[in-house]
Amino acid sequence: MTREQSDLFDLVGVGFGPANIGLAVALEEVGWNGSALFLERREAPDWQPGMLLDGADIQHNPLRDFVTPRNPLSRFSFLNFLKSEDRLFQFLNLPTAFPLRKEYAAYVRWVANQFDHCVSYGSDVIDISLEGVPHQQTQVAVVHLADGRTLRARSISFAPGRTPAVPAVFSTYLGDRIVHFTDYLPARERWRRDEAVKSVCVVGGSQSAVEITLDLASVTPPVDIVNLHRGFGYQLKDTSPFTEEIYFPQFVETFYRSSSLRRQELWAELRRSNYGSADRDVIEQLYCKLYEHDLDGRRQISLRTNCSVVAVSQAKSGTVELLLEDRGSFERTSLSVDAVVLATGFRNLGLGEHEERFPPLLRKIAIGLGGERNVLSLSRDYRMTDGPRSLPIFVNGLCESSHGFGDAGSFSLLSLRSQMIADSLIELLSSHVHAASRREQPAVVAIG
Ligand SMILES: Cc1cc2nc3c(=O)[nH]c(=O)nc-3n(C[C@H](O)[C@H](O)[C@H](O)COP(=O)(O)OP(=O)(O)OC[C@H]3O[C@@H](n4cnc5c(N)ncnc54)[C@H](O)[C@@H]3O)c2cc1C
Repeated sequence: MTREQSDLFDLVGVGFGPANIGLAVALEEVGWNGSALFLERREAPDWQPGMLLDGADIQHNPLRDFVTPRNPLSRFSFLNFLKSEDRLFQFLNLPTAFPLRKEYAAYVRWVANQFDHCVSYGSDVIDISLEGVPHQQTQVAVVHLADGRTLRARSISFAPGRTPAVPAVFSTYLGDRIVHFTDYLPARERWRRDEAVKSVCVVGGSQSAVEITLDLASVTPPVDIVNLHRGFGYQLKDTSPFTEEIYFPQFVETFYRSSSLRRQELWAELRRSNYGSADRDVIEQLYCKLYEHDLDGRRQISLRTNCSVVAVSQAKSGTVELLLEDRGSFERTSLSVDAVVLATGFRNLGLGEHEERFPPLLRKIAIGLGGERNVLSLSRDYRMTDGPRSLPIFVNGLCESSHGFGDAGSFSLLSLRSQMIADSLIELLSSHVHAASRREQPAVVAIG
């Protein structure tokens, strides 16, 4: 292989989480023979490892996996995983509809491992730029890695997951003692070893906030827990089967074609299906635990609702001081804790308080984006329309603002989205990949 062939790929994937694993599966199933390399910053395939809590279950029907809604005969299905692990009958006998998150993470790993030949783990993408004459077929993307390597690509599937939403007051304090919830488990282990952490504040009112509060209540040695959020109390997730039709393929069409005003209305009406709410089982567990603690005269967990954090400071010892404001009376009080977990979600694309105009890594690529009031725009097949015209850049798994609820925060439509991106990619690269096929290149190329 010449040098040119070894660092120029038909497709480079940024991230190898569910979004790009789904794309790899779709490309494999159609027998695409372009060259592809997926770059993953972790050392191994893992699905949300910071939140693989004991007892936590998944939030979607397990058959909405990488393939079943598109191709129920696929060998990459969750059922085939169970069968190959010799656990099918035990699973079917489980008195629950939703598998444990750790079991689904094992399924994700099992699928990912079948693509080891086209993934480079430990590869942290730090920048993406363009090379060549704008709008010509010869233009390529240059992907820069933290270890100094660069790769060139005829197309990109950009799938690093959404940017964590960190409230501005906390942004300069992220570190050992103040973490986003996606880093919860390693932080919890650190804090357990560091005996100085005796109290933890969980900020947020969603599924993750309840799960973390319950989890912290079970750790030894015990820690005091304050859970604070802006709402009145925990809201139940909207699990009406009518609402859950947002995970039907038709909903994506409806949402995508709606005006921005209608999208905002739909968002407000349907957001409790996945955001700012929690499942009945964990809400009830927490309520019962608080009741039992009350009976026992324990004060381990306290809830501070209806309040916002307006200022943060941190002592040299690591202790965190929070200034809280009651949202009704505007009364201010302070709270001192040893650590904070921010269960504050992720940023979608948009201009709102917790949104971003484009993911930071695409800053050099979003060349047509223009002024400060413009947000990255996406075609129905998830291609950036503000990017270079002749070089397809797919934004894979970040498109809830344009494509609706099933896009970023859920597995539910992953198999169909992967198919759409794969079809579009194959069509757009057909001239190159036909040439590659005549050269009889392997479908995927590993780099050292
Ligand atoms: C705690 C938790 C539980 C969830 N549970 C469910 C559930 O039960 N059901 C459901 O449908 N959805 C669930 N979700 C939503 C979930 O985020 C999606 O289903 C899915 O993980 C999204 O996949 P993704 O590939 O888009 O993003 P991610 O899962 O975030 O994967 C992105 C990958 O890109 C890598 N990466 C990031 N930046 C770079 C970089 N610069 N260079 C190289 N690699 C990079 C990351 O390491 C990661 O592996 C959950 C989310 C969370 C946080």
